[in-house]
Amino acid sequence: MTYRPTIGLEIHAELKTNGKMFCGCLNDPDERHPNLNVCPICLGHPGTLPTINKKAVESVIKTGLATGCRIAGVSKFDRKNYFYPDLPKGYQISQYDKPLCLDGFLEISGDKIRVRRIHLEEDTGRLVHVQGGPSASSGQSASLIDFNRAGVPLMELVTEPDIKSAREARKFAEELQLILRYLGVSSADMEKGEMRCEANVSISEDAAKPGVKVEVKNLNSFKSVERAIEYELQRQAELLEAGEKIVQETRGWDENKEKTFSQRLKEEAHDYRYFPEPDLPPLNTSLFDLEKIKAEIPELPHYRRPRFKEEYKLSDEQVEILVSEKELGHYFEQVISELKEWDSSRHRAKLAPEHFDAIIKLTANYLISDLMSLLNESGDAAKDLLITPENFAEFVVMIHQGDISSKAAKIILKEMYGSGADPSHIMEEKGLSQLSDTGEIEKVVKEVIDLNPKAAADYRAGQKNAMQFLAGQIMAKTKGRANPQIVQEILSKLLTE
Ligand SMILES: [Zn+2]
Repeated sequence: MTYRPTIGLEIHAELKTNGKMFCGCLNDPDERHPNLNVCPICLGHPGTLPTINKKAVESVIKTGLATGCRIAGVSKFDRKNYFYPDLPKGYQISQYDKPLCLDGFLEISGDKIRVRRIHLEEDTGRLVHVQGGPSASSGQSASLIDFNRAGVPLMELVTEPDIKSAREARKFAEELQLILRYLGVSSADMEKGEMRCEANVSISEDAAKPGVKVEVKNLNSFKSVERAIEYELQRQAELLEAGEKIVQETRGWDENKEKTFSQRLKEEAHDYRYFPEPDLPPLNTSLFDLEKIKAEIPELPHYRRPRFKEEYKLSDEQVEILVSEKELGHYFEQVISELKEWDSSRHRAKLAPEHFDAIIKLTANYLISDLMSLLNESGDAAKDLLITPENFAEFVVMIHQGDISSKAAKIILKEMYGSGADPSHIMEEKGLSQLSDTGEIEKVVKEVIDLNPKAAADYRAGQKNAMQFLAGQIMAKTKGRANPQIVQEILSKLLTE
């Protein structure tokens, strides 16, 4: 039996704002000292009142505009009531029936996945479970609470159940992360819990009759999103095959066992007794400058991919790397623009297009393989690079013109990376320039042939490996600086004369 999977995602992302959602406390996800960024408002003391963080609202509107949503004219906040130790007020301020953004979509490999809504709420505190208890001698376990995260602005995006596979769900989450980073509204690092996914998964035999929905929580990596949905589709199919019923419930994902497990029967919206937040007036979005927010949206990944492919004729893989590493992609374009300037400013005709394409390819190769591994080794961000685009362009030109060998290029790049120095200075300082002058090389080749008449004769008599010996002598004489390709060409020309 084949079943039709129906998958929807709910994705939370912490917003990158200075302050918290409803108070002036610092929003600092890296703060390790517990309960430092707290105040009576985010601790839910009686008599305190919330005020709305404007930047957080703008961030959600920006995300909505970037995902094709319409922005609600009037939006409002509601209280979602439940008890949990990480929720000091006993309710979470969220948005129920009037979210900020509605009816958008994202295209994933040609499939349109609709976005039902994006709303704004506040994050909860964090529970820390310790073995041994507050006093280690007690031998008991204990749970501690850190409210630094309580009240941090949290965006929630809910998709329609348009996703058709575990793989597609993962791709959706990855694309959303990329968009949030392009917009600069969230770091969306899943490892740090800045982005968290939940999946609604059901299967049915008949498209008209949807199956029973199971919600899977605790998906803290892209891998978990994919694996957990795969597991859940399989589990549900096996239940139906065995003639059993699927229970509507919330299940957790056990990363180590790679299994979902039942957590609780699914609660309904009415269980939370939502009601309008009496301490906040409805939010009139016409008070926000939507045109200005729109103008701040940079070129998004789904526009950048086809443009990079067409403009620079790069492979799909190269495009994906330069698009997913936003800063590196930006740097790449700055280098290309320096190269264009170099090409048009010289006292000669511009390079033929195919030659310029070769330079672009060279740039992409050195950026993606060599520069990226230097960045990965050091853990530095591309935006902090010491190498100016101008110097990187000069470096690429030096390779293209054969001024330096590929071996010297690696040494020079490493030096540039560390100090930001000029590539031509490093080349001179370290004596790394490559000898590519054919006249000069020919002179050396002639000398070496004259000095080694036996090897030359051997070669002419058919001993082809005598050529290697001669080439080695030439390299030694030029201290390894001769362009090996030119040496080979001249040597075989002179030996076959
Ligand atoms: Zn506070």
